[in-house]
Amino acid sequence: MKDFIWQTEQFADIKILRYQVPAFESLTLKEKIFIYYLSRAALAGRDILWDQNNQYNLRVRRLLEKIIREYAGDRETDGFRQFMLYARQVFFANGVHHHYSMDKFVPGFSQEYCRQLAEAVGETEAFEEVEKIIFEPSYMAKRVVLDKGRDLIASSANHYYVGVTQKEVEEFYRTDGELQDCPVSRGLNSTLVKEDGKIVEQVWKVGGKYGKYLEQIVFWLEQALSYACNEQQQKAMHLLIDYYKTGDLKLFDDYSIEWLKEDEASVDFINGFIEVYGDPLAYKASWESVVEIVDREACERTGKLAENALWFEQHAPVDERFKKTEVKGIMARVMQVAMLGGDCHPSTPIGINLPNAEWIRERYGSKSVTLDNITYAYDMAARFSGVLDEFAATEEEKEWTRQFGALGSSVHTDLHECLGHGSGKMLLGITTEALRNYYSTIEEARADLFALYYMMDPKLIELGIIPSQEVAKAEYCSYIRNGLMVQLTRIKPGAQLEESHMRNRQTIAAWVYDRGRSNGVIERVRKEGKTFFVIRDFTALRLLFGQLLAEVQRIKSEGDYEAARQLIETYGVKVDPELHAEILERYERLGVAPYAGFINPEYAPVEENGEIVDVRISYPEDFLTQMLDYGK
Ligand code: ZN
Repeated sequence: MKDFIWQTEQFADIKILRYQVPAFESLTLKEKIFIYYLSRAALAGRDILWDQNNQYNLRVRRLLEKIIREYAGDRETDGFRQFMLYARQVFFANGVHHHYSMDKFVPGFSQEYCRQLAEAVGETEAFEEVEKIIFEPSYMAKRVVLDKGRDLIASSANHYYVGVTQKEVEEFYRTDGELQDCPVSRGLNSTLVKEDGKIVEQVWKVGGKYGKYLEQIVFWLEQALSYACNEQQQKAMHLLIDYYKTGDLKLFDDYSIEWLKEDEASVDFINGFIEVYGDPLAYKASWESVVEIVDREACERTGKLAENALWFEQHAPVDERFKKTEVKGIMARVMQVAMLGGDCHPSTPIGINLPNAEWIRERYGSKSVTLDNITYAYDMAARFSGVLDEFAATEEEKEWTRQFGALGSSVHTDLHECLGHGSGKMLLGITTEALRNYYSTIEEARADLFALYYMMDPKLIELGIIPSQEVAKAEYCSYIRNGLMVQLTRIKPGAQLEESHMRNRQTIAAWVYDRGRSNGVIERVRKEGKTFFVIRDFTALRLLFGQLLAEVQRIKSEGDYEAARQLIETYGVKVDPELHAEILERYERLGVAPYAGFINPEYAPVEENGEIVDVRISYPEDFLTQMLDYGK
């Protein structure tokens, strides 16, 4: 699909993207029906999240929806445009607070104008209920307050607690210090409320708080049951349904364990009260859902790498003393998102690692998945954002990136995760603590260099992982471009690099640039007052990556703290202020919004004689329309 629109619009600091689900087409009818029901279950809990985020959110949303649908007055005024901007922001954030900064949105239209709009659609009363939350800046100003010295519960605008103080909450959930064998996640699925001076938990369950939404979710999960991929999955689903019906947290743990054991199905999903970032005390979980399909092609790729792990280890350009004689590659599970719901929509994660309960992780491990089609969509959208055109040095470089950039970065990630981190060994008696604060940067550099070195190895073509060396060239160009320039857009003028992935990328890119300078491997050029880095000799660059890999592996294996410090402080921390200023200025002119979220696809069952004979997927293009549909 060449002319697929990846980014549909941009407003305030938000861009709206779309993702594709190519894996859906190759599913069986049974699996497609399974996806359809799971996606209905994924959308059925949306209002729970809105209410969790703030007690007025649903009322605000209904008013906005009504005005958008019914207002018959002039829609071409500045006031109405500002009203629509506010509505989009609220839809995107699942409430009146920004999804990331947690600050309340400031409407760009007057209270009086809003009253007129409400009156015009017969909602004066509804308006009066919400005018304070919309228009009084200091009222419920922040969704999650984390500042020390304040009552985090009383000052946060979320709706997990009603009428209780931080002290009362801490007292309520205090344990007597006794270690429990399998502690349930107390408080995870309830609102804590003070009623007649007594503190009680209103549990989220069928028949309890949020009961009408949970009933819907259970209904769709029950429809999905008979289409599950295998018995283990069915077993887990039964536990999830029972948990929603009873609110019993022990059942949630049982469910999590059974869900964890299931790792063969071609369709998997998350549906529940999962992450606790919305509660400053981290007891209460927001509702979310993700439906995913295994990306067979990508899994085949990681499978091939894992199978050949020993070959890669033996051929690595590092000292024999630092090599493992036995290696097991990690088979990463690569998935495509089929539907996002609740706290995962419109803004979404690109990888998931669950369950969260620490004792389950210790005893049973965790399931880690990367969401390939989301990363791909980001990548494609970035390509049309102008960033590539602005920072790529040559037409050739742009063309390689357009054609092979996405595959290049996927293969880089595969090599990094499946082989890079697992390769090499420490000398006897050396531990990772030796490198102290430089450890994670060195470790990331090692995995990246392993990936970069093998990216251009003929072995990858031989294994059928990449079709040609242009894929490697695309990846090399993008790595250097990012490491020396583009990633600097994420830090403020005058700042140094702190984060270890960023330090790692600059260390590698700046080191190979420096070492290859005398032979012209990478050339720094100026065109029309702008700086570019052009790779002149890819083979020489690959050898430089290999040399640095040898050194970084030595540093890790020997625990050479001083060498780690030297390397990273010389290449990975300092930022050239002049180049930084130039890059910030070039980036700002592109006007790229910093946050992104997605429009979901839609699934339509095709029925014949009351039976589903097919499920069709389509990709809507309008964010607002989808939001209004979900609100119905
Ligand atoms: Zn890593």
